[in-house]
Amino acid sequence: MTTAEATTVRRHQQFIGGQWEDASSGATFDRTSPATGKVIATYANGGVEDAQRAILAARKAFDETSWPTSRASDRAAILNKAAEILRRRADDVAQSISAELGRPISQARGEAYATANVFEYYAGKALDLRGDAITQQVPSAVGLIVHEPVGVVAFITPWNFPLMLLGWKAGPAIAAGCTIVAKPSHYTPWAALILAEVLAEAGLPDGVFNVVTSETDNGALVGQHLAQSELVDKVAFTGSTAAGKSVMRAAANNVKKVSLELGGKSPNIVFPDAPIQAAAQNAFTGIFMNAGQVCSAASRLLVSREIHDEFVETLAGMARKMPVGDPMDPKTAMGPVVNEAQLARVMGYLERGKQEARLVTGGERLTEADLAQGLYIAPTIFDQVDNSDTIAQEEIFGPVLSVISFDDVDEVIKTANDTMYGLSAAVWTKDIDVAFKVAKGLRAGQVFVNAYSASGLSNMPFGGYKQSGIGRELGPDAVNEYLETKAIHIKLN
Ligand code: NAD
Repeated sequence: MTTAEATTVRRHQQFIGGQWEDASSGATFDRTSPATGKVIATYANGGVEDAQRAILAARKAFDETSWPTSRASDRAAILNKAAEILRRRADDVAQSISAELGRPISQARGEAYATANVFEYYAGKALDLRGDAITQQVPSAVGLIVHEPVGVVAFITPWNFPLMLLGWKAGPAIAAGCTIVAKPSHYTPWAALILAEVLAEAGLPDGVFNVVTSETDNGALVGQHLAQSELVDKVAFTGSTAAGKSVMRAAANNVKKVSLELGGKSPNIVFPDAPIQAAAQNAFTGIFMNAGQVCSAASRLLVSREIHDEFVETLAGMARKMPVGDPMDPKTAMGPVVNEAQLARVMGYLERGKQEARLVTGGERLTEADLAQGLYIAPTIFDQVDNSDTIAQEEIFGPVLSVISFDDVDEVIKTANDTMYGLSAAVWTKDIDVAFKVAKGLRAGQVFVNAYSASGLSNMPFGGYKQSGIGRELGPDAVNEYLETKAIHIKLN
């Protein structure tokens, strides 16, 4: 069925203390399809009062039930079961993501599988949580180092990977024994509600995972309430750097723990001896996947002057042929951007880019035939960009690539690092010495060598240097973000 043929308007409630509920004010908000502009769902418009009820439900589950001290094997079993259900419900997840975000249906199932993998990884971590014993230093004393769940955790998440970014947090938080209030983006709340169903079916006790849905302005208010609440022990935020700073300021209210996954302007560096076909393919998907709405998008292409012309022409050819259209069509490779605000924002950068650089392809909204009702932008490449230009410095979060030429290794490391961000980066070369020098020289949380992504690696940490964030998700240590450390000193007689 195409997006235009789907006429049902779904009605959703929030999930608080194990119950499905309307907003306490009775207010609702509509979500429109980015592909057609028509209303596709109505959500409870939860406000501060609802957030407070969710916090109290999470508090009760943490303070008054055995959940935080439950057997690790029970928490692991819940995560493993949730993984199994997510795989079974991959089609529901894909429908929700395609309908609300506009990601092509052929790619959207991947979020269910990636989240299932993360849950299984942290099921293993739950079983492997351990402390330490210090017995040798003073004969008359024993020291124990134990880890305990941090408490009630707020998740504030964006719209671009609506399930996966929640899963990256929920996996380690559940493994640790925390309780949770999740506030998904108002543009894509459906995936969070599916996750609530999945976790409940997997046996997660009432009150451990709560979801409050809120429209735009309420969303920021609810986010702020969660971030400043004295009843919340930690906030895990993914979103823009500006909102992340505001969350961090609010969190200072009770000195709660903060982890932030923020924006990026990631450099993708191609040397002349690179495996060119693979480099071009990855440079292409690195920026145009999910219509460029990816925090780690390869939005700055730094390409050696020696191969520049041919490389850019190859990419432009691929961009001109890219099937852009209805996200529900299995042949679609790129759908619309998520909402009107995002469209306006990207269009602004396209105009800016035309002043700053040379437009190679794209640079416009697509309005022909079936695309006219949707928020479609042509895959766009700007060449002859200077790294100081706005389109090289600011996160566009759309299908827009900025190409910069370089001549040598030291110069390209300097240019790549000349940004306030430090999320992802890649280097393409067959020379291991060059690859290692660049990988070490880049100030970024993850560096790919001869690749631009490594989806599916739950055991590798993900996060940012500089203003791209604080803390790491995924990997063996992410569970520590949800644990406190306690030193127990025992005096022996
Ligand atoms: P956003 O910052 O506008 O919103 C993110 C979430 O924060 C939403 O749930 C929103 O309601 C809430 N929020 C907004 N303002 C708030 C405030 N002042 N206080 C508390 N909560 C607030 O981001 P977005 O537009 O939804 O997502 C795009 C951004 O997310 C991009 O900058 C992108 O780079 C970033 N992102 C980062 C990662 C990462 O892992 N580093 C992953 C995905 C997206």
